[in-house]
Formats: sequence, structure tokens, C-alpha cells
Amino acid sequence: MQGSLPVSPSSDTQDELAPAVAVGAPVDEAGGVLTIDLSAIESNWKTLRSASTPAECAAVVKANGYGLGLEPVAQRLTQAGCTTFFVADLSEGKRLRKVAPDADIYILNGLAPGTGQAFADSNLRPVIGSAAEIAEWDAFTSVHQWDGGFALHVDTGMNRLGMSVEEAAAFAPRINAANHGLKLLMSHFVAAQFAQSPRNAEQLQSFRDIRALYRGVPASIANSSGIFLNADAHLDLVRPGVALYGVNPTPSTKNPMQPVVELKVRVAQVRDVAFGETVGYDATWTARRPSRIAVVTMGYADGFFRSASGDDQKPGGTLYVAGHSCPIVGRISMDLTALDITDLPDRAVKRGDLATVIGEERDVDATGEMLGTIGYEVLTSLGRRYARVYKND
Ligand SMILES: *Cc1c(COP(=O)(O)O)cnc(C)c1O
Repeated sequence: MQGSLPVSPSSDTQDELAPAVAVGAPVDEAGGVLTIDLSAIESNWKTLRSASTPAECAAVVKANGYGLGLEPVAQRLTQAGCTTFFVADLSEGKRLRKVAPDADIYILNGLAPGTGQAFADSNLRPVIGSAAEIAEWDAFTSVHQWDGGFALHVDTGMNRLGMSVEEAAAFAPRINAANHGLKLLMSHFVAAQFAQSPRNAEQLQSFRDIRALYRGVPASIANSSGIFLNADAHLDLVRPGVALYGVNPTPSTKNPMQPVVELKVRVAQVRDVAFGETVGYDATWTARRPSRIAVVTMGYADGFFRSASGDDQKPGGTLYVAGHSCPIVGRISMDLTALDITDLPDRAVKRGDLATVIGEERDVDATGEMLGTIGYEVLTSLGRRYARVYKND
């Protein structure tokens, strides 16, 4: 297909991308339209790269490119010059390999038992975080003469993945001596979005101590927020994820990133609700006046959390219709959400109009706040029923 984006795992096209491509449901037929600005992603990557120079700027595209589409995002960033990527697991790594044939690709979740061959087949690098993984990787690489390389993850306080500092120190002489193909030494910040947290400096110090034992191996600790802590945290390579997609990596100050996503959902019906009637499941919201309700085609199955429902006790979230903020009333259901548009001028809203969920009126971070979560979760929850329009100019 000429000009189509590779969006399925089986696609391996390398064609030039068209300026705007819609995938998924056709725009007119979809309950919602998700617009993803690939040029803003590129521009964000370049901003992060400049902020980190001379360190290399990689890109984290796990979880399907934070919900925005692994292939289109990786393809655009590859064209922009990004040569190192991180994904969570092998299935993402295999998909990524098809659109980034020459990139260094790291698998953050590490080496699952018995998967050595899959890493070698797609030339992927495990981020190894335990002695057991090292042992299995060593055995595999020596039997199969594979030298595709790996990263070593050192835990400096997250207590999630990675070897302890003590273990990594003990391993250093062995790994250095055996020329094991160690390509990257990495760790991960616990609280980089809080620039004032003493944890940042503590973690950086332990990581620097370990790094000194692995001379000549490139080192990396900074995620998006880590890039903005200070230049000491950049080391040899930075690993931004969420900031590429427009989420603010410096929550206490102005967002240095460009917005990437816009989400608009369609009005299926406008209806009048009499005083005293209720709206939605469980009858949790009661009309205190004759009300006008717009029902939009987006619900929790689209990743719009029920936590934003509005009831008689407590107001919920809002969507923007015709430039006005309109309260969500009643329970958000699987496919639908009701809005109180009583205060809007008559006929301001009609069937087929679009309401804004994420856009100029409210960014991803504020949407996360409204839904009781963070921008990361808003993006990675974005539903699969939306028409997805990729802006690629
Ligand atoms: C997800 C992840 C990143 C990217 O983090 P952001 O906060 O999205 O920039 C970097 N490193 C590791 C180990 C990760 O798991």
C-alpha cells in the first residue's frame, strides 16, 4: 500500500510516510479521533538531544510507543537520527527490528528463561539484571557464538529490576576479563521528576561508584525527567520516554515539550432530561434542573477511566464542547459518556459534533490529573477503537 504506515507487527514497509495517514477506523465512522503529531515527537526528541549533548539520546518506545504506535514513532525517530531504542519485551523488540533494521535495541524486561535464541534471531540486547540471567546468557552466547551484546542493569534504589550495587561490584572483574559483550551499564531513577529529592544525588553517586569499576562501558541513568536534573546525570546515554510524547518531565515548571496528542470524541445524541430524572447506570446523578445532555462515544473501554464519573455527591471530570467546559454526569459506561451542556447556547451542540478530551484546552498531564492518574497512564490506556491520524509533515 502506497504511503501507508507500518502499523501491524507483520508489516515491514520502509516507504516514505505520507503527510497525514489515518489508521484504524475511518475518521467518519470512529467514535473518536486520536491525532498523533509525529513531527512534534521528532522535535521533542531533538530538544532532549540538545539538552543532553554530548551524551547520546536514545528513545524509549515500550508499551507500543507509550500507546501511540511503536512502528510510526520508531520509524520517524529513526529518520531523525535516533539509533538506540528501548522496549519492554521481545514481542516489541521484534516489531521494532522490522522498522529499525540497524538500531541498537534493548529489551528492558531482561532475559526470560529459554529466550536466548529469540534475542539472537532479531539481534536484540537483553537488559540483564541478575546473576542467573548472566549465567544463562553466557551459556547461550558461547554455545551459539552469539556476540550481539547486552546491557547490565544495576539497582541503585528502585528495587524493581537490576543487580544490587554489591553484586555488580563483585561481577566487575569477571565481566571485564571475559569481554562478555557488555555494551551498556544502566540504572534507573526512583524520583527524577522531583528535582529536590535527595534520592537523585544518592543514586547518581552509587551509580558513579559502580561505573568506575566498568571502565570503557557506556553508562546511562537518566529517563525524561533525569535529563532535566543536571548535566551530571546525562553520562553517556539518556533514555527519554514520556517527554517524547509531550508529557511534562518537569512537573513543577512549564512544560518544555511540544504537545503530541489530541483526542476528540463524537456526540452521538443530544437529549433533554427533566428535573429529578437520573442519568446513567446506578442512577448516581440527578438533574437538579431541566437539563440538556450530550452523549459522546467514548467510555472506559477506550481507556477513559470511570473515576471521572460525576454524581450527586461529587463532580467528575469535564470535556470541552464548542469551547466550553462541560461536566461529565453519571457513570462513565463502557462505550459512552454523558455531558451536561445545559449552560451552552441552544443548538450549540448537535449530533456528530466533536468534544475535546485532550487538546488545546487541556493537555495530557491535566487530563491525567482529572482521571486520578498520570500522563503516562493516560497515553498507554488510549483505546484501540479510535481513528488514529498520524501527522507526519
Ligand atoms: C520506562 C523507562 C524509561 C523511560 O522513562 P520516562 O520516564 O518515560 O522517560 C527509561 N528507563 C527505564 C529503565 C524505563 O523502564
